[in-house]
Amino acid sequence: MLFQSKLPNPETNIFTIMSSMAKEYDAINLGQGFPDFDCDERLKALVSKYLQEGKNQYSPMPGLPELRQTLSEKIRKTYHRDVSSETQICITAGATQAIFTAIQAFIQDGDEVIIMEPAYDCYQPAIRIAGGLPRIYRMTSPDYTIDWDRIHDMVTDQTKMIIINTPHNPTGTLLVEKDLQSLEQIVSGKDIIVLSDEVYEHLIYDEEEHQSVIRFPHLFEQSLAVFSFGKTLHATGWKLGYIVGPENLITEFKNIHQWNVFSVHSFTQYAISDYLKQPESYLQLPEFFEKKRDYLTELLADTPLIPYPSKGTYFQRYSYAEISTQNDVDFAKFLTKEIGVATIPMSPFYTKTLDDHVIRLCFAKKNETLEKAAQKLRKLSQMAVK
Ligand code: PMP
Ligand code: GLN
Repeated sequence: MLFQSKLPNPETNIFTIMSSMAKEYDAINLGQGFPDFDCDERLKALVSKYLQEGKNQYSPMPGLPELRQTLSEKIRKTYHRDVSSETQICITAGATQAIFTAIQAFIQDGDEVIIMEPAYDCYQPAIRIAGGLPRIYRMTSPDYTIDWDRIHDMVTDQTKMIIINTPHNPTGTLLVEKDLQSLEQIVSGKDIIVLSDEVYEHLIYDEEEHQSVIRFPHLFEQSLAVFSFGKTLHATGWKLGYIVGPENLITEFKNIHQWNVFSVHSFTQYAISDYLKQPESYLQLPEFFEKKRDYLTELLADTPLIPYPSKGTYFQRYSYAEISTQNDVDFAKFLTKEIGVATIPMSPFYTKTLDDHVIRLCFAKKNETLEKAAQKLRKLSQMAVK
């Protein structure tokens, strides 16, 4: 049978590759971003309660009204904006689905979408499936700052979307207020949507404040902000998230959403709605993860791996340039097979391979897991890998 693939160069994503290798070689998995500790008992009890109470039928298409109401209050407290729970929020099957649906909703054949590399892996395939053309701005190590004059110059009449991600996976960098202001100026008066991937909104360190597009009144009118309960609740396997934006954009988003998802599982939405009413659950995340970040850095201090700063997400980059000239994919495979620690190479986050000899480590792990990994990684000090 003949058919034409919409993604003619199929690739398995790097997270799947490294997690399967970790299993195969029984390595400690500091690769794919997920905690190896469980979510809160209080949350699990709420999920059980609503499951047992029979909250097991369809929720309304944009998500449970109670949950949207809780989120609207959370947004008001966190970002000082009134967002309508009725018309400006839609609950999704994770951030990936929100991003995919947003791109399908607004990108047509030949539309240009500006993305910043290194970029999270799901943006480009979604753009291509929609018939859009990714236009790539390359951020450079070590700061990964964005030169907004260059973004301004990249904008053409075909530009329909700019995708940003803060806190940023995989670099751990943040956009600051000035960045959002520059972006606001660039899109102002143009039919360009900002798709803002903010799944790590609460994983932010060193007393920094998350700069959501929701904080900026004019920018918000042209933006869709995407969030994931997976990160905030230590429950990546639930695949639940939400999208927030002005009514006209969310209405169009729902127009597509209802035909590819309709609605997501209901008992978890009841549980999350109750759970998030106590803000401590997410307000303590910066301190909790900052300790883990610092602990891993301390544990690895006597290895040849050199850390780069991480101000957000649960990832930190480490350079291995001192010990090896291997490319980052080969080095990550070597670490998994020979040392027993799985990590993520940086080059898969680029269209044209850029290899800085840097790998990404996930510190959302029990302290004992970080200790075991460090013990293994110390073997690198005695090895000539080059
Ligand atoms: N965006 C970024 C930057 C991510 O790191 C991830 C992975 N958690 C996602 C989106 C997807 O989130 P979800 O698992 O909720 O689909
Ligand atoms: N977001 C996770 C990471 O960056 C991976 C999610 C996935 O496996 N698709 O590690």
